[in-house]
Amino acid sequence: MPSMTIRSVEPIVVALPREVPYLGPLGPGESVNERGYFVRAGNRTIYPVFDRSVLVKITSTDGSVGWGETYGIVAPQAVVAIIEDVLAPRLVGRESDDVAALWEELYALMRVRGHWSGFFTDALAGVDIALWDLKGKLAGRPVYELLGGKRRDRIAAYASGLPRATLDQRVALALELSAQGFRGVKFAAAVSGEGVIDEMRALRMALGPDVDVMVDLHWRYTPTEAIALIEALEPWHPYFAEAPCAPEDIDGQAEIAGRVVVPIAGGEEWSTVYQVRPRLAHRCVSIVQPEVAHTGLSQFMAIGRLAAEHGVRVIPHATIGVGIFHAASLHGAASLNEIPSHEHQHSVFDANLRFVQTRMRCANGFFELPDGSGLGVEPKPELWDHVVHPWF
Ligand code: MG
Repeated sequence: MPSMTIRSVEPIVVALPREVPYLGPLGPGESVNERGYFVRAGNRTIYPVFDRSVLVKITSTDGSVGWGETYGIVAPQAVVAIIEDVLAPRLVGRESDDVAALWEELYALMRVRGHWSGFFTDALAGVDIALWDLKGKLAGRPVYELLGGKRRDRIAAYASGLPRATLDQRVALALELSAQGFRGVKFAAAVSGEGVIDEMRALRMALGPDVDVMVDLHWRYTPTEAIALIEALEPWHPYFAEAPCAPEDIDGQAEIAGRVVVPIAGGEEWSTVYQVRPRLAHRCVSIVQPEVAHTGLSQFMAIGRLAAEHGVRVIPHATIGVGIFHAASLHGAASLNEIPSHEHQHSVFDANLRFVQTRMRCANGFFELPDGSGLGVEPKPELWDHVVHPWF
């Protein structure tokens, strides 16, 4: 396998405009502050009004470029500082090929200080994805071939989020998405103003029995509340209930999963197998949702294989970005054993595809894989109009 010496590692922050805030129009009491952030009352989580992420550009001495991407939703300065101050100086001058070994070495730098997740592992994820892209390009092969081979040519997509203000509008959007070919639709408790049970019933009545309806509970309930709520949803057959209680509460997650018949999904916030393993051992979820922008591709694959060992399905998460990490997620999903579907953030992914050159797309309810060597996704020149200085 050809290898090259790493010449530079550069983080680049981009902020893309969006028409409607993530998860839908702002609700009562929700307002944008001077930093461009608002807090969703329904899940107490902070979001920006634009789509922001951190790209990672790794250039080898022969001029080849690998692209990565990670979270930049909040405080992208933190990720930029970690890459520039900690990771890049360890990588420059090194051989690029042994991606898994480089991940282990970089992860170990901050392990004893407790940086097992968050900004440090996000920065590492962006670097890891860029290294896989570079490895594929140098080998002249798509990344999925390097991960074990392609098991499928396309991946079923479920439509995530119904960003409309009222329940009637959300049901109408769900019907539109179903007509476009999506066989699964997920709604969000955080913005379910008319109530989760009424929204579940309305969606099932409108969509009929053949479309999967999922609910993201956004970590907002106690275990006792979550059990009662999910049991109340059972007559309308949710395909899964996601993130029912606080992410730290392993016992609570296990209690819920053991009590209800609806499959419990979770894991978008986990970065490594070290966080996933105790949750699988305690049977907290029957569907794990790795987010490659947190995990990177090396850990995404490790989590996928660990899930298979535990009889747990993998339905990858999709967060806010330009699409480079999304391509990485599709390569990983193409080469894992069983992937029922992959999240499709229609309000993010489709809109931001105009900033990248790729064959990757979502059509008729399926993701079509990128082609070419590496990840098969390259920034277009117009993306550079949206670069923001990290220390804005
Ligand atoms: Mg979620």
